[in-house]
Amino acid sequence: MTTFADLGLSQKVLSAVTDAGYTTPTPIQAGAIPFALQRRDICGIAQTGTGKTASFVLPMLSLLEQGRARARMPRTLILEPTRELAAQVAENFEKYGKNHRLNVALLIGGVSFEDQDRKLERGADVLICTPGRLLDHCERGKLLMSGVEILVIDEADRMLDMGFIPDIERIAKLIPFTRQTLFFSATMPPEIQKLADRFLQNPERIEVAKPSSTAKTVTQRFVASHGKDYEKRAVLRDLIRAQTELKNAIIFCNRKKDVSDLFRSLQRHGFSVGALHGDMDQRSRTAMLHNFKEGNLQLLVASDVAARGLDIPDVSHVFNFDVPIHAEDYVHRIGRTGRAGRSGAAFTIVTRHDQKYADVIEKLIGEKIEWSAGDLSSLPAPEQSHDEERSRRKGRDRGKDRERGKPRAVHKSDNDVEDNDVQPKQGSKGIESVKHERKQDNRQQNGARGARPYPANDDNRERRRHRDHDDGPTPVGFGDDIPAFMLIVANAKV
Ligand code: AMP
Repeated sequence: MTTFADLGLSQKVLSAVTDAGYTTPTPIQAGAIPFALQRRDICGIAQTGTGKTASFVLPMLSLLEQGRARARMPRTLILEPTRELAAQVAENFEKYGKNHRLNVALLIGGVSFEDQDRKLERGADVLICTPGRLLDHCERGKLLMSGVEILVIDEADRMLDMGFIPDIERIAKLIPFTRQTLFFSATMPPEIQKLADRFLQNPERIEVAKPSSTAKTVTQRFVASHGKDYEKRAVLRDLIRAQTELKNAIIFCNRKKDVSDLFRSLQRHGFSVGALHGDMDQRSRTAMLHNFKEGNLQLLVASDVAARGLDIPDVSHVFNFDVPIHAEDYVHRIGRTGRAGRSGAAFTIVTRHDQKYADVIEKLIGEKIEWSAGDLSSLPAPEQSHDEERSRRKGRDRGKDRERGKPRAVHKSDNDVEDNDVQPKQGSKGIESVKHERKQDNRQQNGARGARPYPANDDNRERRRHRDHDDGPTPVGFGDDIPAFMLIVANAKV
């Protein structure tokens, strides 16, 4: 069996790996590390949870032992689609790089430029960035990319989904052609293959797991429910309470407004719960995640965008409050549990409207998912006794609408989605008003920032700023209203 010592890593790295408690390299590590150390380009097809991060961080650390960083000229660059993933990679550098004296700079949106500028001035060996913020730094003249020896493009398929590919192409043009490129993606559709062909030179291709596979250690169940949100919430509460082995859980919603609503509802019902969605500022997100990881919160309600790729090693349960519209998202969500050989459970609440999406999921993963307590045909007739709650809800929504001075259609619309690639239902109302509102928001932001020193690429800058704030109207209530105890943790130390 291959050991870490067989892979050609430096002594400093091997000792940090031993301290991390790892005994055997995972398949992506065993496959990628020797080639990365030979300065070969790599095309790695692997999901989060396979040990992918260490497969590029460990060889980078070994290679960086030669040479020194110069001010504003980073030596290596790692691109990540989300701030959370970028912060996680930075944590990996801290863990595996504890025997090195490397400067790591985390350049992500949602935090001030000043601290990031200071790190760059000191000279960074490693830059870990989301594409928009990196380009902002370049355009402000704070960064020279001509010293980059290694470029890592992580989660390429996610980058594509989020519309980052034009940014990545611009970034790649700023980096010397002679660089080494390590490219990772969970899936390899034709667009990603084309991208890999453009960025990589004679790459070593390493594929470790099919994107459609779910871990064998996860027990998966569908749970039938009527379609109203309050009915689904009641089903969810019963489900959570029925789990005798529940240590902690992530609850996924398709829309960020539902993340917010469900969070508040669970809180009202006395659950220990936090929420993660794209409208929270970086500090709140980091603190929330930390509190969940530390066990201060038992449940975390999240959207796909906010939770993508998060490394939370020990989640016992995943609940899908909504069936994901894209079947691949199901695989990603389920991947939060049953990691590293542990057992896990995943429950998906399915309404009649969701049946078609549930069918596609079963097709993708190539197995039938059992129903937990009878399928949709065994549901009792919907109860008529919820009129009171419904009218209370309507009253509350109207009140909120008045507070925000917005037409009610915006809040009630199915278009209140977080993920750009989730399509609104045909014929649903409100899309025009949402789009209009977003345009207005952008214009206001641009106006507030005044004239910009870089007139070129306005479109790109606008797109980036737009994405930095995540699409969709801001959910009511939760945004700034986070209990103080959840915010006690400082930002990731990097
Ligand atoms: P990643 O795919 O990079 O998100 O890693 C998933 C999880 O596996 C993380 O919690 C890592 O700390 C852990 N991990 C990475 N490499 C190994 C290894 N060789 N043995 C055991 N755990 C590992």
